[in-house]
Amino acid sequence: MTSSEQRSYHGIDIGGTKIELVSWLDAGSDLREVFRERVATPGTDFDEFLAAIAGLVARGDTALGQQAKPAPVGVGLPGVIDSATGRQLSSNIPALNGRIVAAALQGALARTVVIGNDCQCFALSEAQGGAAAGLPSMFGAIIGTGAGGGYCVDGRLQRGFNAIAGEWGHWTVPAPLLAQYGLPVFDCPCGKAGCLERYVSGPGLSKLHAHAGGDGAQPLTIVARANNGDAAAAQALAIHLDLLGHAMASLVLAYDPHAIVLGGGLSKLAHLYQQLPAAMRRHLFRGVQTPPVLPPRFGDAGGARGAALLARQQSE
Ligand SMILES: [Zn+2]
Repeated sequence: MTSSEQRSYHGIDIGGTKIELVSWLDAGSDLREVFRERVATPGTDFDEFLAAIAGLVARGDTALGQQAKPAPVGVGLPGVIDSATGRQLSSNIPALNGRIVAAALQGALARTVVIGNDCQCFALSEAQGGAAAGLPSMFGAIIGTGAGGGYCVDGRLQRGFNAIAGEWGHWTVPAPLLAQYGLPVFDCPCGKAGCLERYVSGPGLSKLHAHAGGDGAQPLTIVARANNGDAAAAQALAIHLDLLGHAMASLVLAYDPHAIVLGGGLSKLAHLYQQLPAAMRRHLFRGVQTPPVLPPRFGDAGGARGAALLARQQSE
């Protein structure tokens, strides 16, 4: 096969501080990386933002060589898109708020542009060639500065009616669990209150630590202190594990995935892999087996890969 016949894709991972583009050739069962570049994210000016991406794609096109058609672009973007208007609702990049990013990029790049959120791109990357490769279904759960995820069947992302399938971080913590631990109802930037994300994300764990009488330390510090016998740290981790166990048990009831792959900063907490299955079982009825809880293969580095896989999925 000559390069002009071989399909190619660009995957772009957009974060608050950097934009990463990776260009890929389709190698059948997997993608082969050809080019990679990172630039700083223009945070306040939308035209500069579009120009930065156009520049990355132009350099990626050059690296891919002569192509029959312009390579489709997949974009992983944090935040929420209004499914009726396509406008970006909440973003950690002010330049994007209220913009129809997909249409603007499509115009600037003159090719197919597919946008998914960063958690969906993570899930797709771990489903295809990642920690859950070859499984009939999987759920990728990000636990970092926020909490979100994506559900894949046979290596394909299931996006749903609003393209938000898997947004488990905005399920509400059940009132009995809040009462059991005497927890306040935290407001969420999504406009609701009591969302799981506010309790189980990295900042959420720090708030649980403060609630348990600690100083609201960072997650890795909380784990280190708990290992040294600190009571407040141990209590924060126990509440965190129980809330996360409830959330993952709910994922089993909703999707029944063949594996749950963790991503984000808290995926580095080793105790979650050992203790989450038992914590999930406390919230499930008898006879339900918990799926394996797996560490990521690509993790955060899979964002651009997942975005390219989303472009491939949409262009099939
Ligand atoms: Zn929320």
